Parts: sequence; structure tokens; C-alpha cells
Amino acid sequence: MTAAATALSVELIDVHKHYGTFHALKAVNLSVREGEKVVVCGPSGSGKSTMIRCINRLEAHDGGTIRVNGVELTDAVKRIDAVRSEVGMVFQQFNLFPHRTVLDNCTLAPRLIRGLSKSGAEDLAMKFLHRVRIPEQALKYPNQLSGGQQQRVAIARALCMNPKVMLFDEPTSALDPEMVREVLDTMISLAEEGMTMICVTHEMSFARRVADRLVFMEAGQIVEEGGPEQMFTAPVQDRTRAFFNQIQH
Ligand code: ADP
Ligand code: MG
Repeated sequence: MTAAATALSVELIDVHKHYGTFHALKAVNLSVREGEKVVVCGPSGSGKSTMIRCINRLEAHDGGTIRVNGVELTDAVKRIDAVRSEVGMVFQQFNLFPHRTVLDNCTLAPRLIRGLSKSGAEDLAMKFLHRVRIPEQALKYPNQLSGGQQQRVAIARALCMNPKVMLFDEPTSALDPEMVREVLDTMISLAEEGMTMICVTHEMSFARRVADRLVFMEAGQIVEEGGPEQMFTAPVQDRTRAFFNQIQH
């Protein structure tokens, strides 16, 4: 499908965000088409999490326009709920409910929000626990799993809502090195199935493999964006070059 024939999944137009007097997002513009995979990188404090959190309204932006699947994010609660139910989010800290089993973590939202029956939701959850290759962990509690397994549960939980777009905010940063691979492999297979993805990560092997576009942020702005090869080898901005030299890919 040509780019022109593909609908916009996420659209940020001149988006601003303040925390008190601090200007965290400054005129951010970003368009992500259905099926596109965008990797966001940049130094700590550059606004990556803020941007991701504004896309599913965990933070409210205070200037500009954000549209998700064509719906503008405003204070209208019904719309926000509708948008959120179609946006999967995976955080650095897995944010699983500790007092619920893996299976319950996955069935909760489909039951409450989609109105699925217990058995229907469990069938769905098992399908996605197979998908992330940990069906045998279904009846355990999160603290009985490794970090890599917990993060795969978090991905399965998000997939149970049949999201149109998945947002990842440094999903491997809290993991021991030997567990990074299994989570990245899960993300790669998701990408290869055509999921629309916006991923904040500094895993440049992942970016090289799946990103259609790499976005570099600094001080609340998108400084530069482009294909991964171009960004790695011939960035236009000095700041982008300095960043990539620093993180080594
Ligand atoms: P990144 O994810 O790129 O590290 P963040 O989006 O988390 O950056 O933060 C961008 C800037 O906004 C940082 O300077 C951070 O301290 C500030 N910030 C983030 N969240 C808040 C908040 N809830 N209140 C005040 N300042 C915040
Ligand atoms: Mg962050």
C-alpha cells in the first residue's frame, strides 16, 4: 500500500505541554500512518515520555492538536476512553497488578471494558500468552516471574484489547541484559505482523531492524527525523550526530 493510501494513526500538530512553568513539549509535530513503526530516542528529560503519555491522555497537552485514529483528544471523557481502549501502552515498569494472576491481569480490561465473558476473556488471554510464549505462566503472580516474562505479560495484556496502535516507553530499560532480547524479539514479531508502533527506546539494533522512521528529541522538540540508516550515518543536525556517537550503535 502506498503511504498516501494509508490512514493516519496518530497525529500531533504543534503540540505543547507545560508542567507549571516548565515547557516540556514545544511545538511537536508527528504523523504516524497505520502500520508504521516509529522509534523515538533522545537524551533523558527531552520529553519522550511526555509525548507518549499525551498520545493516550495520561497527560493532557495544553496547546495544539492530537488525533488518534481520527479522534481528537479533548477533555471529553467518552472519547478519551474510546481512544485509550484502542491504544496499547507498555511501560518501563511493567505496571502489572501484583495481587492478580498473569491470566487475571490479561482478562481484566477485556471483561470490564469490552464486556467479554470470563471464559471468552480467558481464551483471548491464553491466545496472547501463547503469542508472547509464556502460556505456562498463566496462573502465577507477577512477582513469581522474571522481568522479561513480566514485560511479555504486559505486552500480552495490551494485545488482549486488540489495539490499533502500541506505544512503548523504554520497555527494556528496567530489564537485566539477558532479558532484553526476549522482549525485543516479541516486539519485532509484533512489528512484522504489521502493528502500528511508537517505541521510545535506545535499542538501536531494534530501530535498525524495524523502524520506518527514527525521531530524535531534545529539550522538548523533535530535532530531526528520518530513516534509521540516514539518521545513523548522515544526520543533518550536530545534536543528532553527537547523541548517536554517544550511545554507540
Ligand atoms: P524523557 O522521557 O525524555 O526522559 P520526560 O518526558 O519524562 O523526558 O520529561 C521531560 C521533562 O519534563 C523533564 O525535564 C522532566 O523533569 C519534566 N517532567 C516530566 N514529568 C513531569 C511532571 N509530572 N511534573 C513536572 N515536571 C515533569
Ligand atoms: Mg522517559
